[in-house]
Amino acid sequence: MNNDKHPKLDCIFCRIIAGQSPSRVVYEDERILAFEDIHPQAPVHILIIPKEHWASLDAAPRGGEELLGRVVAKARDIARDKGLAAAGYRLVLNTGPDAGQAVPHIHFHLLGGRRLSWPPG
Ligand code: 5GP
Ligand code: ZN
Repeated sequence: MNNDKHPKLDCIFCRIIAGQSPSRVVYEDERILAFEDIHPQAPVHILIIPKEHWASLDAAPRGGEELLGRVVAKARDIARDKGLAAAGYRLVLNTGPDAGQAVPHIHFHLLGGRRLSWPPG
């Protein structure tokens, strides 16, 4: 378990949560942070994360479903705020090596603002 008082400071996203690494914050509350991806792959590319340090979806604890649901609902709200709802967008949750997960702190990618290809590579 992780929170603002005991951040996991070897994790880049925990460092961002703790304000020890810069980021362009889109939304923040007690349990959730959303910020712009440093290497955007679309006109809108925002990462939405729970502040608790879960290494991946596979590492998310039983009982974490409510927070996960809030994170997904917040992604929807941000997509609406960014004007993406009508044209559509993609919410991506890479999990583990085969999916190319590079940062071991669970994060949803909100991608939109252009036509996205399918299937993914
Ligand atoms: P993954 O491949 O783990 O699903 O995605 C990790 C994402 O985090 C990548 O899109 C990458 O650009 C982004 N990222 C990695 N380090 C940083 C950082 O320090 N700041 C921000 N804003 N994004 C980062
Ligand atoms: Zn972390």
